[in-house]
Amino acid sequence: MTAQEQAHVRGSAALFERAKAVIPGGVNSPVRAFNAVGGTPRFMVSGLGAYLWDADDNRYVDLVSSWGPMILGHAHPAVVDAVRTAATSGLSFGTPTAGEIDLAEEIIRRVEPVRQVRLVNSGTEATMSAIRLARGFTGRKRIIKFAGCYHGHVDALLAEAGSGVATLGLPTTPGVTGAQAEDTLVLPYNDLDAVRAAFAEHGPSIAAVITEAAAGNMGAIAPVEGFNAGLREITREHGALLVMDEVMTGFRVSASGWHGIDGVEGDLYTFGKVMSGGLPAAAFGGRADIMGHLAPAGPVYQAGTLSGNPVAVAAGLATLRAADADVYRALDENAARLGTLLGTALSEAGVAHRVQFAGNLVSVFFTEDPVTDYAGAKAAQTWRFPPFFHAMLDHGVYPPPSAFEAWFVSAALDDAAFEQIAAALPKAAAAAAAAKEPA
Ligand code: PLP
Repeated sequence: MTAQEQAHVRGSAALFERAKAVIPGGVNSPVRAFNAVGGTPRFMVSGLGAYLWDADDNRYVDLVSSWGPMILGHAHPAVVDAVRTAATSGLSFGTPTAGEIDLAEEIIRRVEPVRQVRLVNSGTEATMSAIRLARGFTGRKRIIKFAGCYHGHVDALLAEAGSGVATLGLPTTPGVTGAQAEDTLVLPYNDLDAVRAAFAEHGPSIAAVITEAAAGNMGAIAPVEGFNAGLREITREHGALLVMDEVMTGFRVSASGWHGIDGVEGDLYTFGKVMSGGLPAAAFGGRADIMGHLAPAGPVYQAGTLSGNPVAVAAGLATLRAADADVYRALDENAARLGTLLGTALSEAGVAHRVQFAGNLVSVFFTEDPVTDYAGAKAAQTWRFPPFFHAMLDHGVYPPPSAFEAWFVSAALDDAAFEQIAAALPKAAAAAAAAKEPA
């Protein structure tokens, strides 16, 4: 095929063939591939409100929401207007801009323990920088993370990570050296005894505990009662920092993220997704005395050519300003409605399942046992997921293509969207029921 012919190839299957030749695996982030469910990733062309349209002109009710950011739905007029206005004034200056202060102030207003904020470009950058800052501030080297939590593709944080790492069944990844991983202690999620034991052994060398404020990357697993508060107590007792990763939960599960739900105060926070409005932006922030250690105020270096980009900042700010109490009410109601539909369809089809919530993050595990950690998530009948997923897709609903991901609702889901979900689910549940365990 000539380059000219290729440029006219449409349809997801044809685009995927082209993509695989020039992009590893045909995708720019592994979670977009359909490795765990089989088939061809859908190449999306447009989105509006609760819907996406692919390159074959199929329409889907979107239950991925760009993996979290699009709480208002796609192409929300206030966000698109803000982006257009910002872009018209110039795309990037490499200087400070007033919008960056507005966004930092909005984050600080919403999340009480956050007194200063540094803007970055991705959640990965946010967690990487927060860990560096925690080490620089405490002068200690070790980090505790929890199995099944995903904090971006930071070398030190990839061990037993959730999300795409779990989806692809990777224990860890080549390319991360022993030295980069050896200072990371990986503990079971929701297990305070394991945390106490780790501190008893290594306390003086532990710089920080990093946790998803509520886990969403091994499916939705809320912290059990007292877990986050226990982390707060133990870290404080040992002079270590508590890093609350709210990249997924931040500004989604409440106006103040998971902090608005359990009130536990972290020392540092990481944000991304919703506060980006769908463009590349993220942030980390926290106590002013710790943030004051960042360059140029302090010695811990961190930087970015495009950090605080004016267009991305405008999108994030417009999203947060539009995300009022009605939006958060709609997100919670839509999550509950989705959960009820999921549970009803799977019960009627006789499929063992648990619909779990972490705030308004939803996911379905094919097991009857409550899932509280990564071992539980992996023990579920994940082989029922691929046929379940494809039946949803075939009937115009786009869930995440992995059993280890949360489902993300938007406030734009309306009755028509829910009717489509309700029509698709019995077929998907029947497909899950008919699935056979691989030999
Ligand atoms: N932290 C959490 C909790 C996440 O869910 C993610 C991404 O899904 C990240 C960090 C990394 O963010 P990004 O993909 O923007 O690098």
